[in-house]
Amino acid sequence: MLVQAATGNTSIKLDGVLWIKASGKWLAHAGQEEILVPVSLAETVRRVETRTDPAGQTAIVGGQTLGTSVETAMHAVIPHRVVLHVHSVNAIAWAVRADGEAQLTPRLAGISWKWIPYLPSGLALASAIREAVAENPGIRVFILANHGIVICGDAPLETEALLREVETRLAIATRPVADPNWDELALISERTGWKVPNNPIVHALGVDPIARRILSNGILYPCQAIFLASSTPIVSRFVSASDAAAVDSSWLVVEEVGTLLRARQNPVEGLTLNGLAQVVLRLPELAPIAYLKQNEVNDLLCADVYRYRARVEGNSADKLPFHNLPSGEPGVELR
Ligand SMILES: [Zn+2]
Repeated sequence: MLVQAATGNTSIKLDGVLWIKASGKWLAHAGQEEILVPVSLAETVRRVETRTDPAGQTAIVGGQTLGTSVETAMHAVIPHRVVLHVHSVNAIAWAVRADGEAQLTPRLAGISWKWIPYLPSGLALASAIREAVAENPGIRVFILANHGIVICGDAPLETEALLREVETRLAIATRPVADPNWDELALISERTGWKVPNNPIVHALGVDPIARRILSNGILYPCQAIFLASSTPIVSRFVSASDAAAVDSSWLVVEEVGTLLRARQNPVEGLTLNGLAQVVLRLPELAPIAYLKQNEVNDLLCADVYRYRARVEGNSADKLPFHNLPSGEPGVELR
């Protein structure tokens, strides 16, 4: 509900050192492996000031070379010691709305917060945050349009408490959706060779007409384009094996029936799909949605994205000697 796979990042500034999540590492694994990279705060800020992106600075931690997160610049320019950035499904369900800022004004009353219009992660997003901080250094909460949320504080526990408070205020119940038609999914799977995920909520993307309409109109946020597809393939329940094979995506929505995965069991895809379904089922039918623009989607799918995706997948739980993900991890199991 807060992060999916390697998304989100946390940091703490201690004695001139910025400890920031390593690119591709999973916050869920923080108890089992090193996920934070220590870099000089002054040097990181200097890079931002000279318009050099500080993402990817490396350090050797626990015998492995880790590189700083793509969002390092944003963490560096925030004056607070502790920064929690998450892709909360509740926050995203507001952050993709054209009327999101107005909707959140009463909900976040009494908290010092700011709406940041969509900008790609890196220097662009960091400079918007920097301007906001220059205007009001007391801002504790940033809502990043089409992206997520940033919570700032001076100590970890009080910052986490603020995150919980904001989550409570932004909580939305999911729209009820009928169960997927498992028998028909099995038949389509047999005919096409595509696999049926076990997680009922991802099938809501096919079963629920509002979800299908939202998906067919565009991309809501970057991780959807990076880890799933730059547009949502929607096919009819009568899709042939050859038409399914020709789909340029690793997943597809079957109208009125559910969702299928091309073949391989991939935890990153499963978790991203789960997150997408959680967001879409929190969007009311008549909510005005501000999709990413086509050029913004294109910019995300640069050459680097494939290396990034490989790094995230390489860090998934099954590569660890042990892990703390709950059993029944959403979307990973196939039927
Ligand atoms: Zn992010």
